[in-house]
This record gives sequence, C-alpha cells and structure tokens, in this order.
Amino acid sequence: MSAGKLESFVEGRWQAGSAEGRPLVNPTTGEELGRVDASGVDCAAAMGHARTTGLPALQAMTFAERGGLLRGIADVLAANRDAYVDIARLNSGNTAVDASIDIDGGIGTLKVYAGHGKKLGDATTIMEAGTDQLAREDVFRAGHIWTSRPGVGVHINAFNFPSWGMWEKVACSLLAGVPAVAKPASATAWLSHQMVRDVIAAGVVPDGVLSLICGSGEGLLDALGPFDQLAFTGSADTALMLRNNGNILKRAPRLNIEADSVNATILGPDAKPGDPVYDLLVREAVKALSVKAGQLCTNIRRIFVPADQLAGVSEAIAAKVGGMSVGDPANESVRMGPLINKAQQQAAFDGLAALSAETTIVTGGGAPDALDGGDADRGAFVAPTLLSCAEPGAAWAVHETEVFGPVSTIMPYEGTDGGASLAACGGGSLAVSVFTNDTDWAAQTARFVAPYHGRVLVVDEEVGKNSTGHSIVMPQCVHGGPGRAGGGEELGGLRGLRFYMQRSAVQGSPTLLASLADGSAEATL
Ligand code: NAP
Repeated sequence: MSAGKLESFVEGRWQAGSAEGRPLVNPTTGEELGRVDASGVDCAAAMGHARTTGLPALQAMTFAERGGLLRGIADVLAANRDAYVDIARLNSGNTAVDASIDIDGGIGTLKVYAGHGKKLGDATTIMEAGTDQLAREDVFRAGHIWTSRPGVGVHINAFNFPSWGMWEKVACSLLAGVPAVAKPASATAWLSHQMVRDVIAAGVVPDGVLSLICGSGEGLLDALGPFDQLAFTGSADTALMLRNNGNILKRAPRLNIEADSVNATILGPDAKPGDPVYDLLVREAVKALSVKAGQLCTNIRRIFVPADQLAGVSEAIAAKVGGMSVGDPANESVRMGPLINKAQQQAAFDGLAALSAETTIVTGGGAPDALDGGDADRGAFVAPTLLSCAEPGAAWAVHETEVFGPVSTIMPYEGTDGGASLAACGGGSLAVSVFTNDTDWAAQTARFVAPYHGRVLVVDEEVGKNSTGHSIVMPQCVHGGPGRAGGGEELGGLRGLRFYMQRSAVQGSPTLLASLADGSAEATL
C-alpha cells in the first residue's frame, strides 16, 4: 500500500504540489510510503474560493441541513473505515485501539454535531433566551443574537490526530455555517487526505465547503482576513509564531490555540491499595504509557500520590508496563507501536535527558530492550517509561517538560491539598484527573484545580469503570486549557460554534426582538 504523492483539494479540484516534497514514513520500519507537498498551491485562491462559493452555499442551509451534511460525511467515513485503519497503522504506527481513537473519534464527533444540527432545526441564527428592558417605558429592549461569521475556518492540525483533529474542527465550523480549509500536519497527512478524497468523491459536500492543503501551507496565514478564524493545534513554538504573525496581528482574524500541556492525575489521600479508585488510577497511568505511544495532548504526564503510596503505586504501574509488548502494530500481540517518526523519537529522548536531573527511572528510560516486530534502528520506538521525582516542590523541569511519548513522572505529595498545588505548577493544562472516594475532598480539589485546567475528571466508586478516561476528549465537554495549553477552547457541545459565530446585542422594540426570536433557534452557546 503506497500513498503516492498527496494532493491538495482547493478551488474545487485536486492539485499536486510542484516540488518533490517531504517523505511520508512508516515509523515501524523507516520505509518511505509516499510524499507530501503543496508547493505552488495557491492558498489565497483556496481561501477565496471557500469564501465566494462555499460560504454562500453553507449559509443558505439551515442548521438541520448542515447537520445532514455532517451525517453524510460521517457515513462516508464509516463505510471506508477499514482502509483508514491500515493507513493509520502504516503512517502513524497505530495499533487497532490507537486507530479507533482517532478514526472512530472523528466519526463520532461528526455524528454528535449532526445531532445538534437536527435539534437546532430550520433556523440559521441563534437567539439567547431573555431580553433586558433598557428604557423606563417598556418599548426598548436588548437581546443577543448569534449569526454565522462571513469568513473561512482555517484548521491547522497536529500530527497525532489526522482524523479526529480535522473532523472535530470541521464539524463545528460547518454546523456554524463556515467553510473549512483543513491543513493536516505533513508527517501523517495520508489519513486526512484519503478521508477527504472519499468524502469529495461521494459528492456529499457542496463545492467550496471543504478544502484540504497537504503540505506546508505557505501563504495561508497571509490570506486570513478579519472575518476568518484560525484554529490551531500543535506545539507551543508554532503557536508563538502564529501569535506574532503580522497579518494576524493586523487584520485580527479569530485565533484559537490548542498547544502542549503537562497534564496531571492525583490519587486522593483516602485511596488505599485494593480500593477500586486506586486500581483505576493505575489503569489510567498504564494507558498513558501505552495508548497512541503516549502521543495524546491530554495524556497524563505527572502522577501525584500521597507520599506513603509512592512506592506501591510505582510498583503497580511498573509491573503492568514492564511486560508490555512493543513493536509492529500489525502484530496482534503488540500493545504499543512506535512514535510517528525518528524526529519525535529523538525529541522524546531529549525530553528524558531534560528530566534526568530531577528524576530517577522506575521503568523504561530509552529505546525498548526488545521489539515484537519492527526495525529497532530505523523505527521510532520508545520504551514505556515511568520516572520518579522525589521532591516535586523543588523541581521545575517535571512541571514544564512535555515529553510527547509514553513517559510520565510519579511524585509524592503531602497534606490534603499538596497534589492540587503541584498540579497547578503545570502553568495551565488541558486535563486533570482525581481518583478518590472522598466527595468533600474531591469537590474542594476540583474547585482549586479548575482555573488551571480545561477539564477536570473526578473518578470515584460511583463512576468506576464507566469513566471515559483521562485522555479521551468527549465532544460534549470543552477541550482546551489556559496558560501554556494555549488558552483556547473547542467542542463542548454547542459552545463549539461560538468561535465561528458572532454574538451581537440587538437593541430595539419588544416586537422586533420577538420577531428575531421567532426566526431563530433558542440555545445557550
Ligand atoms: P507543530 O510542529 O507545531 O505543527 C502543528 C501544525 O502546524 C502542522 O500542521 C504544521 O505543518 C503547522 N505549521 C508549522 N509551521 C507553520 C507555518 N509557518 N504556517 C502554517 N502552518 C504551520 O506541532 P506537532 O509536532 O504537529 O504536534 C505536536 C504538539 O501538538 C504537541 O506539543 C502536542 O501537545 C500538541 N497537541 C495539542 C493538542 C491540543 O488539543 N491541545 C492536540 C494534539 C497535539 P507541517 O506539519 O506541514 O510542518
């Protein structure tokens, strides 16, 4: 199976880049799978086509019709799912479980937003409930209306979710009435490319509504105008460049940043070996050291446990990851595949070196000792690695370094709020989880950590195994985090439409406001 040279879908047709391009690599073997290049692809023309063709087509559709469009995309993807699993294995080193998180996560998110469209019905605008009287006599009031922004949604994605990362953005954008120009990360663009190719071939998307740029996307940032929105997911370095881009500063398109994050989990002071919540934390920590080879932005990077539980929890995690099979994800016995390329493997090794002054190795710590298939030299394997830091209150690298691979650090805390205080040292993260049966402590901890995190997961015995897990982003919940996590927000049900819609106060007579409300869906965004 070969990717060939990926093309971009812009201005209503597939276009090849003019240069040789960058290689797409199988991270299990180091083999080249194809090339990706968008040299010469006119990003400004792509945006122009989306604005002049896709935008009016979408804005003429009701929310329900847009929901139907999302459903149509989801059905095409579901029908072709098996081919996507193969691509995810070859180009991203995904096991079947990893591929499902990305592929089924994307399809599921599209379906959730298709359902929102159906509920919003035959309107094209949303009116917030309630109006306020502004004059002594009740003839002048104000209400708030949400309308689709007259621009394009440019979606720049990270390499670790070529499916979910693209579709979760497209779902919100299209439902809000805004055409999408998606730019997947070059290294893993094959899956995004195949999915869009299938969707376009099926004819379920009107012209100009969905464009795809496979390659570097030169000129994309300069083509952004004041009513466009740029939704970015990726590294803090690229985010910094975007924040400082002259055109973005000058023309002020909306910018949403989902960047890296040093997420934490906390074992409650009440939890003891043998308690279900204790085992559930161990289970989540093991997932963090295996699922998608640790390449999830929400992954647990720091594990805080009461000081007297440090040895026990460390041993329990190490015992489970120690015997884990790492190698070729084509082998059914393999639990964890490689990172997505040699550069990411080296970045993980560099990250481990950065943490070495503050930590000791509990298990792993470099390349795996043995592989179940795959090429040890040309592949990009990293052993599941648990580090331990004895003095997290005096350390800084453990709170600042995101090793984007199967690496977490376990650390002790003292007192009842020690874990929460240490979790806050991440400087703003996407997700934090808490494992406890003490509801009062959990509520107090949730309130304390919430301002530092976009999502707080509390697992007690009532929730048990029913939790969707620390790292999984549910479309019902907001995704994004403050501070170093980028300060952005995506998804969260209808809240995900905010970014693509304008809220305006409308001042006028009660009659006018009632008329606007009649022609709008009523919802809280
Ligand atoms: P990256 O190197 O920053 O790349 C992200 C995207 O930005 C890629 O599509 C890349 O394109 C593009 N890009 C880079 N320079 C650009 C430019 N000048 N103009 C336009 N696009 C440009 O990040 P990554 O290595 O793919 O992703 C890993 C990071 O993403 C990790 O730190 C992880 O924590 C973070 N992440 C965060 C979330 C979240 O939701 N918060 C989710 C997933 C990952 P090319 O690939 O073509 O260079």
